[in-house]
Amino acid sequence: MFDKKTLLLDFYNRLYKAFGPRHWWPGDSPFEVVVGAILTQNTAWRNVKKAISNLKARTLLSPNALYHVPVQDLAVVIRPAGYYNIKARRLKHFVEFLFQESGGNLDRLLAEDFDTLRSRLLSVNGIGPETADSILLYAGNKPTFVVDAYTRRILFRHNLIPEETSYDEVRDLFMDCLEPDASMFNEYHALIVHLGHRFCLKKNPKCTECPARGWNDE
Ligand code: SF4
Repeated sequence: MFDKKTLLLDFYNRLYKAFGPRHWWPGDSPFEVVVGAILTQNTAWRNVKKAISNLKARTLLSPNALYHVPVQDLAVVIRPAGYYNIKARRLKHFVEFLFQESGGNLDRLLAEDFDTLRSRLLSVNGIGPETADSILLYAGNKPTFVVDAYTRRILFRHNLIPEETSYDEVRDLFMDCLEPDASMFNEYHALIVHLGHRFCLKKNPKCTECPARGWNDE
């Protein structure tokens, strides 16, 4: 029986060996990463890419432009991302928060103390823990672990957590066991997403071909 730190490091090494660096999160700027983190809620990344292309084509991909565009117009532009009325409001909530906290300067916002910023982000309507941690890690390079549905599913299937474990409990498991290393957390989450997308499907997981096969099996 291995301790959890050894298991989590072994898992990371297996995935990295199988898939190599994932170069995640795609985006030309930290602000684009933030917008992508909000748009990707409950939708596939290919749809987010179309919405971001639309924003770029209309020169709306900046804090100032998003602050001033009417929410109804924004909803039309981001339509490919799905739930577009809700996501338009969420983008507006974020940029309003950004202007309130730092006058629209994302670098200045991201330079704030990590824990304070995380709890401030979580107070923004429409920003839950997965989105907040994605923003902090991928736009802000802060050492926070992003937990998604794949992470929970894989850890549950390998007997590391009960099925109903909370977001914070799973995040704490990684953060308590691993050194606070933003670049490793960046790669680790991206590798888990790739594993989940390719192999650990909700129905009919492809265990026989999966690089995690045998991990933590007694
Ligand atoms: S597909 Fe099977 S072996 Fe791979 S992570 Fe999921 S449960 Fe584990």
